[in-house]
Amino acid sequence: MSGEELAYIQDALQSNWIAPLGPHVNHFEKEIAEYVGVKGAVAVSSGTAAIHLALHVINVTKGDLVFCSSLTFVASANPILYRGAEPVFIDADPETWNMSTSALADALAEAAHVGRLPKAVIVVHLYGQVANMSEICSLCDQYGVPVIEDAAESLGSTYEQRHSGSMGLFGVYSFNGNKIITTSGGGMLVSHDQQALEKALYLATQAKDPTEYYQHRELGYNYRMSNLLAAVGRSQLKVLKERVHARRAVFQRYVEQLGDIAGFIFTKELENTRSNRWLTTLRVDHSKTAFRVDVIRRTLVAHNIEARPVWKPLHLQPMFSGVKYYPHEKGMDVSQHLFQTGICLPSGSNLSLRDQMRIVQCIKETISFEKIAF
Ligand SMILES: *Cc1c(COP(=O)(O)O)cnc(C)c1O
Repeated sequence: MSGEELAYIQDALQSNWIAPLGPHVNHFEKEIAEYVGVKGAVAVSSGTAAIHLALHVINVTKGDLVFCSSLTFVASANPILYRGAEPVFIDADPETWNMSTSALADALAEAAHVGRLPKAVIVVHLYGQVANMSEICSLCDQYGVPVIEDAAESLGSTYEQRHSGSMGLFGVYSFNGNKIITTSGGGMLVSHDQQALEKALYLATQAKDPTEYYQHRELGYNYRMSNLLAAVGRSQLKVLKERVHARRAVFQRYVEQLGDIAGFIFTKELENTRSNRWLTTLRVDHSKTAFRVDVIRRTLVAHNIEARPVWKPLHLQPMFSGVKYYPHEKGMDVSQHLFQTGICLPSGSNLSLRDQMRIVQCIKETISFEKIAF
């Protein structure tokens, strides 16, 4: 927490706006829109809901295709199924871990060739790294396909001075408990297209017609953010800058301490981008070292230190078996490789120097032990 939450919540309670609407919701939307440099925003109950609304506004429906990054959390793609559409998964780039532009180019060319272009492309900015947006957007423009940015993990990250989430037709942020700022649960849909946002707002509030009585012509959702939670979000947004600073410092310290270990490859920032370093991630090059990344993770766990495996790619998930997948290069499945060789280190904004050094020490000891054993 930032420390100011109680004052904001107290204000919400005193004003008696205890509803999925109210002044804090409106302020929170304005403040986010201003911060990331877009025309407007709609505060909703989760990042997943925001993706769902974006797909609905684009009119993604049964029988449509939607392209989506494969190396991501399942929430990026679930809304494609909510709409009854068909996902197609796109591999990752080995440098950024984000959508491979060569795989995307292949997928779009093939889709155009058979006359079945996707209705949208969902690009994820994984772990805070911003994807190669100029290439991705120009590819999508070429085929007239709108881009939805899943920026759930990358609020505060920039690409050529522009904020992640502000470059596509829609951007999506999450304020789930694990994200860089949180409302305990919540999300935000942003866009430069006011009309599209109006439609999203209408759908998020049960698609009620502007009549005196309750009239509905289409199916809507109950997806608005509570005024109480928006109050929390506003005080969180005030410390976003410090959070990014803290997470980048955590990353820097890991690199200083562990960067020289043979085979350790920390995820790079693309040129002209600045990552919020939501999570410090690295992969272990198994051709340069004997030890395996899962040994590090298990040793950390044994020392009561939680480290996470990299997202299991969606094209490898049982629930998506049989779904079409475009690899980075022929016979080169990068996201699977990153899943097998990558790790997310503890990266909290409040990680103390002492705790971080304990983590570092634990990793160094694991490696020297593994060397002897080898
Ligand atoms: C957290 C997350 C989401 C979903 O956000 P919720 O607010 O939890 O629904 C979507 N995509 C990615 C990449 C995420 O990390």
